[in-house]
Amino acid sequence: MMETGIFTTLESCHPPITVPAWMVMMSSKNPGRLGVYGFRHRKGFSYTEGWLTNSQTIREPRVWDILAKENKKVCLVGVPPTYPPIQVNGKLVSCFITPKDQENFTYPTELSKEIQSLVGKYIFDVKFRTDNRDEIIESLYEMTEKRFEVIKQMLAKEDWDYFMFVEIGVDRLHHMFWKYYDQEHPRYEPNNKYEKVIPEYYEFIDKKIGELLSIIDNDTYVLLVSDHGTASMKGALCINEWLIKEGYLVLKKYPESVMEIEKCDIDWEKTTAWGWGGYYARIFFNVKGREAQGRIQQSEFQKVRDELKQKIMSIQGPNGEKFDNKAFYPDDLYGEAIGSKPDMMVYFDNLYWRSAGTIGHNALYLSENDTGPDDSVHWMDGVFLLYNKTKAKCTTKLERLSIYDVAPTILDIMDIPVPKDMEGKVSDDVSNWVHGRKNNAFVLWMTGLPCSGKTTIARKLQEYVPNLALLDGDELREWLSPKDFSREGRDEHNRKVAYLAKLLVKHNVPVAVSLISPFRENRDAARNIIGNGNFLETYVKCPLDACETRDVKGMYKKARNNEIKNFTGIQDPYEEPLKPDLVIHTDKESLDDSVSHVLTILKSMNLMKS
Ligand SMILES: [Zn+2]
Repeated sequence: MMETGIFTTLESCHPPITVPAWMVMMSSKNPGRLGVYGFRHRKGFSYTEGWLTNSQTIREPRVWDILAKENKKVCLVGVPPTYPPIQVNGKLVSCFITPKDQENFTYPTELSKEIQSLVGKYIFDVKFRTDNRDEIIESLYEMTEKRFEVIKQMLAKEDWDYFMFVEIGVDRLHHMFWKYYDQEHPRYEPNNKYEKVIPEYYEFIDKKIGELLSIIDNDTYVLLVSDHGTASMKGALCINEWLIKEGYLVLKKYPESVMEIEKCDIDWEKTTAWGWGGYYARIFFNVKGREAQGRIQQSEFQKVRDELKQKIMSIQGPNGEKFDNKAFYPDDLYGEAIGSKPDMMVYFDNLYWRSAGTIGHNALYLSENDTGPDDSVHWMDGVFLLYNKTKAKCTTKLERLSIYDVAPTILDIMDIPVPKDMEGKVSDDVSNWVHGRKNNAFVLWMTGLPCSGKTTIARKLQEYVPNLALLDGDELREWLSPKDFSREGRDEHNRKVAYLAKLLVKHNVPVAVSLISPFRENRDAARNIIGNGNFLETYVKCPLDACETRDVKGMYKKARNNEIKNFTGIQDPYEEPLKPDLVIHTDKESLDDSVSHVLTILKSMNLMKS
């Protein structure tokens, strides 16, 4: 799929947690608008009572609701949260939150019987966070085998326009085996018995996906996405122990053994704030008129919250190492935040450290999770891959996409208008690839010694190429990065010019860049920024002595007299291109010859009408 498809990094939402992330992806609306901040929520402003997110929590239309209005049929398997099963225009198998022995896990209800006759007892999730790793491996494979059996059957037999499934096994695999696999993990042991569990399961999944690909037709687009990425868990920070230490949380009696905060004897009259554990910390304030035994005045809430945020931001690691902490207020983050939102959301060390909510550790830092073994945390960066059997690879380098872009992209692929209130966008590059539209704009990146003739050729080309923008390196120096001709200065100037060219090309403006760009690294960087598909490295070649003879602005002379420094060709080197897309010999051909040479190439590449 990667060989001929297009792929990039997919950035998750805040927080990058399974529930809400899949629903953010499917609705292109943020957790604040969905009112979903995790799996568990507070019941109103209760200190102890909570409720769990399920399919009924989601009020915003999801991709399949929009497709239903267009009479498109869907099949959904395991998309969180779809338990209890909801009515869709097609078929649905509920997700990992389904209780273990639940018989009613499909829409329509009869489907569950078919599934059970196909695979026996269907498995929604594995029992993870246990120490018996061997048992987990076995149940992971059993669950995934069954799920793919069901998917294969439905793919082949059902009538669908949109088919989606989520395999939760990958997430469980990461949590249970990351420390055995990632050599950077603080508790990694070389040559351990489980070292290959992760790569082997991935191979298994890869093979399973391959089997599915053999069933689908040539018109089908396959989107492979993650709701979040993963990273090594460095440890857990006991948020409530920290709040106790700072005086925000006051207990009547410190517990003798580790227990959940709900079971602790808390002196609410003296308590300002408390927190929840998880891959991120949720912090709640004890506010008068809101919480039953509220302590701080509504009018003081913002001030107290800001103060606590400041303190949280400066929390360090167990050995005084700097933490990259992040703290958000839901209303600031989402614009609007409905439902049971926390007062503050905190990532310890950019999520490397999870939050432990339990109390009784007599410690601030734990090397392991407090609620059962866990090796990995959730991460913002995940994967996006789009594939179609008949499509040739797109040469443009895809920019990062966001989880919010997935729903609009699905609708764009299916030629259905994207609702205006979706927060994501359709990437031009993805859309052009899918719909076979070609962006004909190009960047003619002309590199060569000073006075080799780059700008002269570019000016002449403007007479023939409509709308050709000229980015002249010397001219842009005045605006972007004046007078720093050091290696770093040149690198930076190159990057700025390349980015400018990229913006123009993205909007279909052809560009001629006239820039010495003396180092191979500069030109490679430019190609990377602009994208291979539109980039033409053009070597304007002329021997040094011929350039020096021309010496349009008397610069060579000044360089020879050391009046200017770092002059390419004299004090500084010029690295010739190894594999330029075209070479123009300005010492051997006339200006008209050079220009017609470039035009011939552009026409042969269909970048210009003949
Ligand atoms: Zn997870």
